[in-house]
Amino acid sequence: MTRSVFTEEHEEFRSLVREFLAREVTPNLDTWYAAGIIDKSVYKAAAQAGVLGFSVPTEYGGMGIDDFRYNAVVAEELARGRSSGVALTLLNDIIAPYLLRLTDEDQRQRWLTRLAAGDMTWAIAMSEPGAGSDLAGIRTSARREGDEWVINGQKTFISNGVLADAVVVVCRTDPEAGHKGFSLIVVEDGTPGFERGRKLKKMGHHSQDTAELFFADCRVPAKNLLGTEGRGFFHLMENLPSERLSIAISAVASAIDTFEQTKTYAKERQAFGQSIGSFQANRFTIAEMATELDIARIYVDACIGRVVDGTLTAVDAAKAKWWCTELNKKVVDQCLQLHGGYGYMLEYPVAQAYQDVRISTILGGTTEIMKEIIGRDLGF
Ligand SMILES: Cc1cc2nc3c(=O)[nH]c(=O)nc-3n(C[C@H](O)[C@H](O)[C@H](O)COP(=O)(O)OP(=O)(O)OC[C@H]3O[C@@H](n4cnc5c(N)ncnc54)[C@H](O)[C@@H]3O)c2cc1C
Repeated sequence: MTRSVFTEEHEEFRSLVREFLAREVTPNLDTWYAAGIIDKSVYKAAAQAGVLGFSVPTEYGGMGIDDFRYNAVVAEELARGRSSGVALTLLNDIIAPYLLRLTDEDQRQRWLTRLAAGDMTWAIAMSEPGAGSDLAGIRTSARREGDEWVINGQKTFISNGVLADAVVVVCRTDPEAGHKGFSLIVVEDGTPGFERGRKLKKMGHHSQDTAELFFADCRVPAKNLLGTEGRGFFHLMENLPSERLSIAISAVASAIDTFEQTKTYAKERQAFGQSIGSFQANRFTIAEMATELDIARIYVDACIGRVVDGTLTAVDAAKAKWWCTELNKKVVDQCLQLHGGYGYMLEYPVAQAYQDVRISTILGGTTEIMKEIIGRDLGF
């Protein structure tokens, strides 16, 4: 199906992203996969190529492009190239909007300029050992002492946690205030009392580091508060629809990539004197996947349009997130089956896709939490 959400300029940008990935990322993927972490100099290269921090205003070193379709192109191309270990969607779709929306001039000079230059990489730390879906259970605390915040607590499962030069930490700043008692505080690398724990061993996404973070009487300047004290939860919610849509965009792009590879394989692989794709059972599976992927893309493209015109709702995004990630999981499983034993071999992209896909229905809000959002909106 022809897509109408992107213009010629977006497609030109897509070529630029592909060139960047082919030059700076693809040749390193095996090394990063084995190391369990990427080389962060790639962010500098990404900034120079214009694929990182393009939404930052020109006076802070970016390109001033306020158009989510460019973010969508980067998300699609990273997913297509199995390159999501390079956390460009985290930086472009989550961190940059926070810094654009919530910073004062001093913070913009300190943080936005360095993000746009690729000199400062970031993580966002919400989840804790005892609180993931239920963020109101966060225990990491920050108390104000003079010109400082003193942070104590622990975070886990933090993407980019090892590499990050700065972390947006969700802290409880008023234990009595319920949802109004949370604030976002930026902790920079090297702050006394801030320690990184283990780089966690995962079943997929091996080139992206995922870490535990510890804060023990970690003293942070008061001027590192991001946004308004007590509005941390609300700040998180404001950007969630487009963050979740970004996961759905990646899911569809990744599923289409796996599907296209599998189509080729199913035409070439012979059994009983014919291509395995030509057996009716397999032909039907392939036809079903083609149909569902077309439908998914149309919904996601409509959501991208809604981000651009400012009408994407939390419910739209929840629908996109759960359905597209569950679809990706199903597509990858069916594609692996079509590969037979070769699908189980890690040298085949479908095997890596099978490992990588599993997290997508959990991270950024689980499928169950997405259905809760939709169900509640329907009055149940
Ligand atoms: C690789 C990886 C990277 C991650 N990156 C980050 C990151 O960068 N920053 C960050 O802050 N976090 C990150 N996370 C954490 C992620 O967001 C959480 O794992 C996720 O939100 C789920 O929380 P949980 O693991 O505590 O599961 P729980 O909340 O304990 O949920 C367990 C199960 O119970 C279900 N459940 C919970 N509540 C309900 C309910 N009300 N109704 C029905 N079912 C329910 C869930 O759907 C799930 O199936 C990452 C996780 C992983 C594995």
